This record gives sequence, structure tokens and C-alpha cells, in this order.
Amino acid sequence: MKIELPKAVRMILDELHRRGHEAYAVGGCIRDSILGKAPKDWDITTSAKPGQVKEIFGKTIDTGIQHGTVTVLADHIGYEVTTYRIDGEYEDARHPKKVVYTTDVREDLRRRDFTINAMAYNEQAGLVDEFDGALDLKKGIIRCVGNAAERFTEDALRILRAVRFASQLDFEIEEETARAASLLADNLAKISAERIQMELTKLLVSPHPEKMRLLYELGLSAVMLPEWNVMMETEQNNPHHCDTVGGHTIRALMEVPADKVLRYAVLLHDVAKPMCRSEDEEGISHFHGHPEEGAKLAKKILRRLKMDNATTDAVCRLVKYHDCNPAPTRKSVRRMIYRIGSESYPGLFEVKRADILAQSEYKRTEKLEALACYRRFYDEIMKRKECLSLGELAVSGSDLIAAGMQPGPVIGRTLQALLEIVIEEPEKNTKEYLMRYTLENLFI
Ligand code: ATP
Ligand code: MG
Repeated sequence: MKIELPKAVRMILDELHRRGHEAYAVGGCIRDSILGKAPKDWDITTSAKPGQVKEIFGKTIDTGIQHGTVTVLADHIGYEVTTYRIDGEYEDARHPKKVVYTTDVREDLRRRDFTINAMAYNEQAGLVDEFDGALDLKKGIIRCVGNAAERFTEDALRILRAVRFASQLDFEIEEETARAASLLADNLAKISAERIQMELTKLLVSPHPEKMRLLYELGLSAVMLPEWNVMMETEQNNPHHCDTVGGHTIRALMEVPADKVLRYAVLLHDVAKPMCRSEDEEGISHFHGHPEEGAKLAKKILRRLKMDNATTDAVCRLVKYHDCNPAPTRKSVRRMIYRIGSESYPGLFEVKRADILAQSEYKRTEKLEALACYRRFYDEIMKRKECLSLGELAVSGSDLIAAGMQPGPVIGRTLQALLEIVIEEPEKNTKEYLMRYTLENLFI
């Protein structure tokens, strides 16, 4: 097998060889190369000790020197060079207590999580594939290196990584590996929220977000996202739906572009349906208030997952407005854009579209027509540059002060009142009209 190594990687490997050390490209870059995908980054594993690596290469950074990792800079790109190591005993289901260096590349490969991630390559030795990673890549299988239960006990994050790789690559999780993941799911409780969120995000923005179902089936979401379990188990007896809340959500995830905000918004758009559910005399389910409650619950969940504020806010806004259906008029659409914010509106369009396509066929044509109409009005409003925010208003706070208004909170309230007039009637967004209106109607 021949793998095309980037020039800088060849240079680093050659330099290490010249000094009498072994060195290989390893892990994700080999997996991706065999799959014919461009690797995100190239990691190197070597028999040289970190001190020796630093001596050989001029520009290095001590990235994780306690674990044997030094970053070598070549052509302004960083390459992580890690000394062959065996992880000692693990503590807290995540971190090895101590790291022991070894001189055998096979020992280093043995500590890695999955067979497909445990291959090394250099031009002299070719592919080192002790655990049949290439075969598993061909078969489309995620399988632990060695005993799955032991590997998941050492580090519970690997359980979630298995599902994440399955979704990125559209692979199956091998039986013993899946069984061990289920059995040890409770250990996920010991993993930090940040790490869980990083894996969940990668799963969601992958080409196969439908693997969210695996989180439920393997019993992982019960530990890390219990709301997802409730969604998967909530039926919707309603003509608009033909699936559970979770099942509908999975279909919608597959319909929405692979963007972090959009995928989280779709994941959580109906999160409050289970708690808002009621049944009428005919046995039909209703979910009154679920968008507002959903926005509150989504915020709680995303906070718990230590999501950044910008993403949390954008997601919650989309959840809150996902079910708004303004009248198909320019004025109603303008009000809607104003309420949700013009940056969020195109996302709302995507979320609504995915939501409709994941519902039953009932009234689908009408729903899609209304959506197309929202889109047309949005394009028109944007093209005409109609005012949608305080910043676009024809008068500013300093105009009001120049006209004699006292600085203070009244300025903000006045501008807000003017904005609401202009949202209703965009042609009134002129300095002349708004100043006259202020002088006549408000207290200057
Ligand atoms: P990605 O494309 O997401 O970067 P990757 O395979 O490169 O995928 P990394 O998290 O960058 O994944 O890790 C690099 C390599 O280190 C992996 O391929 C694997 O060999 C090893 N590895 C990473 N995390 C673990 C872990 N928790 N347990 C065991 N080995 C791991
Ligand atoms: Mg990587």
C-alpha cells in the first residue's frame, strides 16, 4: 500500500530516520488517506524521546510534553510528534495515571481506540496494521483494539467516539464493541461536559446525524442527554405526524444543512413537546407552548453541555420561533424578521423546511408554499434594504439629543417606538418624518 505523504511530513520522518530513530505517520491521517479523503491533520509517532525531537527540529512547541507530544512547525503548519508510549493505569475513567515510553511502534498502536485509528505508515516499512484496521475500513466497522470492555473502562470517552466515527464514516459498530458500550454507558457520567459536547457536535454535523438513534439504542443518551430518551419515547397522535418526537427529529436532522447552529436547533426544536403534551376528546395530541418552553429547555441543556453563548443564543432563538407561521404578507414577514433578527431569519427558513419535510404528507404542499412565500418576501425586504433594526433607523440618539431631548433611558425608548413604526410602514423611515413625529407625539 502506498500513501502520499505531504512534503513536510516526509521531511520530519526523514530527519528522524537520519538521526537513527523510527517514525511513522499515524492514526486519523492514515485512516482518511486509505479512505481517499484529505486528512485534517497529520500526526507522527516516533521512537525518539521528546527532548531528542526538540533538539532535532528548530521550531517546536511543548504541546503536551508530559504525554510525550511536541509540535514541530514546518512551513507554518504544526505537526504533533509523539513518542511511542504505553498508557499506564487509568484513573477517573479518562486519564492515564502515568505514561511510559516504549521503543516498539506496535505497543504504541495497541493503546489506540479503534482498529481503523491504529495504523501507522512510512515509506520504508509501508503500512503497519497489527489489528486489521484496513480490513475493518473496508468492511465499514468500528471495532476496539483488544478487549472492548477494558478499553471503555480505561477511557469512557471512547464510547462516544465510537458513535461519532460511525456517523462521520457511516460505519456499523461491531457487536462486541457495541455490547461493551451499552454495558459501560454509566461511565459517561464521569466525562466532562465539554468533551461530551465536542463529540455530540461532531456527530450532529456529520453526514449521518441519523446515528443519533444509536445514542438512544445503546443507552448512552440516558446518561448524557436524558431529554433525547424522552423524545424518542413520545408518540404524537396528530395528523401532522407519523412518528415519535425523536423519530421526527432524526428525519429533520437529515434534511437540514450540516451547520452547528442549525443541527442543534433541529435537534432541540421539539425538545419540550413531551412536557407540553395534552390530548383532546378525540385522542389527538397537542403540544401548546412547546416552542417557548423548548427555547428555555434548550438553553438549560446547552448550558449544561458548556456550549458557547453565541451558539446557545442562536439555537434558542430558532427553537423559540420554529413554529411561527406569519400571514403571507410582507408586513407580517417583516415583523417576524424583526422579532427573530435578520441574521437568524435565513436559518429559521432552513429549520422550518426540514421540520415540514420530516412531518407527514398532510398539507405538505400548502406548508411548503407558505415557506416559499416567506422566502420571497425576505429577499424583497433585504433587496429594498428595509429598516429592521435600530442601527438602520434614519434617526439616532444623537439626533434626538440635538433636538433637545434629555440624555437617558427615554432616548432608547423613543428609538424603539420609532423602530416599531418603521417596521409597520418602512416608507416612514426618513429623518424628516421621524423627527416630526417625535416632536409632535413625544415629550421633547
Ligand atoms: P479526527 O479526524 O476527528 O481528528 P482522529 O482519528 O485524528 O480523528 P484524534 O482525536 O485527533 O482523532 O486522535 C488522533 C489519534 O489518537 C486517533 O486516531 C487515535 O489513534 C488516538 N486517540 C485519540 N483519542 C483517543 C482515545 N480517547 N483513546 C485511545 N486513542 C485515542
Ligand atoms: Mg486528528
